Amino acid sequence: MDLMQDITALAKRRGFVYPGSEIYGGFGGFWDYGPLGVELKNNIKREWWKSMVYERDDVVGADAAIIMNPRVWEASGHIEAFTDPLVECKSCHHRFRADKIGGVCPDCGGEFTEPKKFNLLTEVYVGTTEEGKNKAYLRGEITQGVFVNFKNVVDSTRVKIPFGIAQIGKAFRNEITAGNFTFRSREFEQMELEYFIKPGKVEAKKVFEFWKEARLNWYVSLGMNKENLRFRRHEEDERAHYAADAVDIEYKAPFGWSEFEGVHNRTDFDLKNHHLKYKDEEAGEEYTPWVIETSGGIDRTALFFLIDAYRQDKERVILKLHPKLAPYKVAVFPLLANKPDLLQKAKEIYQILRTKLYVAWDDRGNIGKRYFAQDEIGTPWCVTIDFQTLEDDTVTIRDRDTTKQERVKADKLEEYFENRLK
Ligand code: ATP
Repeated sequence: MDLMQDITALAKRRGFVYPGSEIYGGFGGFWDYGPLGVELKNNIKREWWKSMVYERDDVVGADAAIIMNPRVWEASGHIEAFTDPLVECKSCHHRFRADKIGGVCPDCGGEFTEPKKFNLLTEVYVGTTEEGKNKAYLRGEITQGVFVNFKNVVDSTRVKIPFGIAQIGKAFRNEITAGNFTFRSREFEQMELEYFIKPGKVEAKKVFEFWKEARLNWYVSLGMNKENLRFRRHEEDERAHYAADAVDIEYKAPFGWSEFEGVHNRTDFDLKNHHLKYKDEEAGEEYTPWVIETSGGIDRTALFFLIDAYRQDKERVILKLHPKLAPYKVAVFPLLANKPDLLQKAKEIYQILRTKLYVAWDDRGNIGKRYFAQDEIGTPWCVTIDFQTLEDDTVTIRDRDTTKQERVKADKLEEYFENRLK
């Protein structure tokens, strides 16, 4: 079976990702995250925020509005240059990205038109009265929300260059061909750092190299296989309109090496466009800072963590997600559901653990089936309360990856999981 099919089926069956608006036949390029998918995404976002903001002295956060004054997009160059070349099939009229398609239409074998430019910004109308309707755009990248607040952040905090502003949020692109599950969607989430530095090629190169390595290592620290990751430097003619240098972090997906984060040297392109400067009071100078950006996609990251963690061993599916990313950290089971003593003890343990961790409860079917059900959604540890628990207050902890079991005192469980999650 095809791996992408397996992942898509698992995602739907177990509540990670559903097709958007499914009961109305879906809506191309839009996806809905279910109970486990939202946990996975939140865990990715939390870990990212921790490493980018909380663990650094030189980065602060922001959360700008999705819809901004349309003049932002004129100044940023997106109305002019945020385009993909598009070809249309002369017989079935399906449209494709000229840079991602061969010579003939894959749907009907028809011939293509010459490429035309197609703007990716999604238009919206804002205003309460019909005449007052104003065309605006859903942001095509979250980046501009940080740039337009550059002066606000400098004036309202104690940041000094070099410093960064981190942001997580939704972006929208009218992608010509959405596809590969959530990989190319029309609504998606980004996690970005805009790091402001003194102008200059030497400094830019140093900071660029630092962030490039730091970002790749972050994925590895959360369990992504290093062999499935690589950098790819953009050729001069493929760089976005704002970038002087760009490296993609790519994952070896079943559909080929694919970008899921970009590190860009945006120079002073954006701040200059918005007429924003920085005043260094100590040095008595004023300049337009340069920007090194790290721009990752949360949906692509979640998809690649799922693909990377997916193992099939005969009938058993295991998601070897890093415990920090796993939706549930622990599952608690009473050995037998029809024994009131066991049930009560198990509930007690469940109630205590869930004050600290996101914990699953399962008392259906046999223990083997419950283990498999947790393996399939990546729960790292299962705790079983059995008859011995009633005698000596110990429980078994079963490890997802080794399937080994050990007995631990019930009152040491919180400490045990705290240590394992460090
Ligand atoms: P691509 O070449 O695949 O269209 P891009 O180079 O336009 O991507 P960037 O503008 O650098 O992408 O955006 C930064 C990140 O945002 C990407 O690395 C990706 O993770 C995410 N992203 C961009 N477009 C999409 C999309 N349509 N669906 C999901 N994620 C996206």
